[in-house]
Amino acid sequence: MDNISPTPMLRQYHELKQQHPGTLLFFRLGDFYEMFYQDAITGARELEITLTARNKEKGNAVPMCGVPHHAAAGYIARLVRKGYRVAICEQTEEAGKTKKLVRREVVRVITPGTAIDPQLLESREPVYLAAVCGSGSRYGAAFLEVSTGEFRVTQAEGNDAWARVVSDIESYAPKELLFPEAFAPLVQTAFAGPVRAALLPGAGDAQAEAEHLPSDDRFTLTPVDDWQWQLADCTSLLKEQLRVQTLAGYALEDKPEAVRAAGACLRYARDTQRAAAEHIADLTYFTAHDCLVLDAITLRNLELLESSAGDGRTRSLLGVLDSTATGMGARMLRTWLSRPAIRRGEIEARLASVAFLCAQVTRDRLHALLKEVADLERLIGRLHLGTASPRDVVALARSMKQAPLIRGLLADAEPSLLQILCENISELPELLGLIDRAIADSPPLNFGDGDVIRDGYNAELDDLRAVSRNAKQTIAGIEERERARTGITTMRVKYNNVFGYFIEVSKAAASRVPDDYERRQTLTNAERYTTPELKEWERKVLGADERIKELEIALFAEVRTAIVAETKSLQATAKAFAMLDALASLAETAVRRRYVQPVLHDGDEIEIKGGRHPLIESFIDVPFIPNDVYLNNSTDRLLIITGPNMGGKSSLLRQTAIIQILAQMGSFVPATAARLPLLDRIWTRVGASDDVSRGRSTFMVEMTEAAAILRNATPRSLILLDEVGRGTATFDGLSLAWAIAEFLHDSPGHAAKTLFATHYHELTELAERLPGAQNYQVTATERDGEVVFLHRLERGRASKSYGIEVARLAGLPPEVLTRAREVLRRLERYELDVFADEMPATVSESAEGGLGVAAKKAARRQLAAQVTLFEAVNQSLFDELRTVETDELSPDDALRLVREMKSRMI
Ligand code: ATP
Repeated sequence: MDNISPTPMLRQYHELKQQHPGTLLFFRLGDFYEMFYQDAITGARELEITLTARNKEKGNAVPMCGVPHHAAAGYIARLVRKGYRVAICEQTEEAGKTKKLVRREVVRVITPGTAIDPQLLESREPVYLAAVCGSGSRYGAAFLEVSTGEFRVTQAEGNDAWARVVSDIESYAPKELLFPEAFAPLVQTAFAGPVRAALLPGAGDAQAEAEHLPSDDRFTLTPVDDWQWQLADCTSLLKEQLRVQTLAGYALEDKPEAVRAAGACLRYARDTQRAAAEHIADLTYFTAHDCLVLDAITLRNLELLESSAGDGRTRSLLGVLDSTATGMGARMLRTWLSRPAIRRGEIEARLASVAFLCAQVTRDRLHALLKEVADLERLIGRLHLGTASPRDVVALARSMKQAPLIRGLLADAEPSLLQILCENISELPELLGLIDRAIADSPPLNFGDGDVIRDGYNAELDDLRAVSRNAKQTIAGIEERERARTGITTMRVKYNNVFGYFIEVSKAAASRVPDDYERRQTLTNAERYTTPELKEWERKVLGADERIKELEIALFAEVRTAIVAETKSLQATAKAFAMLDALASLAETAVRRRYVQPVLHDGDEIEIKGGRHPLIESFIDVPFIPNDVYLNNSTDRLLIITGPNMGGKSSLLRQTAIIQILAQMGSFVPATAARLPLLDRIWTRVGASDDVSRGRSTFMVEMTEAAAILRNATPRSLILLDEVGRGTATFDGLSLAWAIAEFLHDSPGHAAKTLFATHYHELTELAERLPGAQNYQVTATERDGEVVFLHRLERGRASKSYGIEVARLAGLPPEVLTRAREVLRRLERYELDVFADEMPATVSESAEGGLGVAAKKAARRQLAAQVTLFEAVNQSLFDELRTVETDELSPDDALRLVREMKSRMI
């Protein structure tokens, strides 16, 4: 900030800036939006536009950059997409001649979580604004989709309350997270990297640049003043919005944190939009038990919404499933996939509808009708937030005209869900009649261009249009008449925004103009004049045009009011369209990809025949090998799966989980048959990745995930463990993997169905010791010295991992491979000689904290826990050497012993 007395305009700027901390202020100056000071530096860098300065000559330079107002939307979109909040400040009065400074106000704040501009929204994805608050063992979180009005809230209680709301937040993947200022450290630890610390309150003015940093790679963190989270205020705000006397009907009576989160979320949305946002007319309370919980790790590991290879949505499961006709349908499908259902009735209702829609003709016709439906949900939002254009209204009418056709198509559909959806579709003939009568077929985008309202709808408007048309014709006639009167055949009657109508005469002919011509402007080659008659007609035209514009705006507002009055019916219709679209898309996938209808049951068995991985089968050139999988909560609770690298272990784990998820979302599944239970959560611990931004190493990430699973899994969960314990020394990892598997098998509260893929062949011992564990292997064979993957799951344990063979396929240099084979041979011999027999007992006891065991075993246990495998091999040689009675050795024996030991060294 400059300390040397700023100009009145900059003072105005500072005032506005102070009222909107943490935003980039777009300050309207004539035809430009300007940014100043740090905003200008940030804006110029992010938008790659030129940074200039104001007041340079006064020695008090203020950094500045600007964008033309007609192109601002694109620039704003770029900034918001990068996570910035942008406050739009407009001139709210005409620039008068007497007053020096025009009034300016911030008319809207555009933030990542509240964006409603189609330019900023991905039509197939929701944009959530989230809010979180609470303390101790009680936290609330709210999720608001401003563009459609979808509003959901939850409250978690107990020791793991915070972890649960964090998991909810990750699952909704909001674009912006609001939190009370005092909450900063907690949110910081959970969501932000160290660099972002400066964003949070208390950083001071010096951190102006940091204030502008988008706060997280995933979402913007927005601290909100503590007073905005007051329970009483939040309660009354929600009651006012929902138009109710009490929040009891929303299951919110004893949920103070949920109410506070929802209240703060709503207030922020209304403040940024500067609108009442009445399309936010409902609030749904949910708990973690309302759906099959899939946390962010699982969504990512199973590539449900996005492919891990960075090719986005197309190669994700959603990409495979989605052939919806509308953005609404695509968003519905996404919601079903990220939060699958848990109630059997709901799932079976969807499955029956999908089965019905597998009939080609109905599905094709439904798809074609839905193609004509616009994004009604967002369109209704725009109408409420004051940004809908006349074209939106035409699109709304066109969409609603599909309603009777869709109802007709599904009139005889038996599935109850389809019947309910049809009942929820309103036809609103009166409203459509009004729109048809009032709004032109192809109205312009802006009101200034006229012709929004149809001729014949309003008599006054028709009259004004006639006046305007006549006057324009008369003016056109003036040109011909004046040419004849003056003999200047090149003269033209023209119009522009600054001077209105005028007669233009070339310089050469200017001397011949009559005396009643009044000069208005001199150009290089021409003179411009007006006449009293032209002025009179101009007044008529401009007066009429001005009035036409006002009247059109007023008439459009009436139509808008009529539409808004039907919000509830329109929203219900939009939701029904969205669900029909999602169901039809699932049917399309089922038919095209040969999926079958799964059978859901209340027991505990997962029984999949001929299961396939829906992503791999879509993207590989060779045929996919189907596999059977069987799990229950008694005899087949823990499947230890071994097999070669590249054998298909991870794929099998993932496909099992995906089939279960598909079934619970109401989709058919890639298998020849599937009997499935209703699960509460799917946990995955797959692969290795660092989380450097949060200061966690690969192993730390792995163990953190494992810890969460062990603490929270229930007998109704499914757990995928892929390569647990790989990120540390072999024996540490093996010990941990062993103990984890045992815990999951033995602990009654956490004994979930578990698929455990591993290269620790020692773990196959478990299956022999534990009654609920079974060994499976994915098979491979060798042909002409080459490993051939069969990708077939069979009972039994694999004998080797073929790691070196796979490394050869990957192109490792021959000398490295030769040396690796040599080391492997020695290690295997060591394992056989010294360790193999005792490993399971040793490991298991080690993990239990060590019970009374023989000294020799104890020494080995310590060895297992503390040294790497290489050190262990060499160490064991030293131990042997110590026990050799050298006095009794002949020179020959000594030589033999040295040779033999040398050959075993690594
Ligand atoms: P690693 O132990 O090295 O992690 P893995 O056993 O987990 O290997 P996957 O990653 O599951 O192996 O599979 C490797 C590749 O094999 C997959 O990318 C896929 O292309 C192919 N594959 C897996 N399962 C099958 C199958 N059933 N039919 C055909 N191809 C398959």
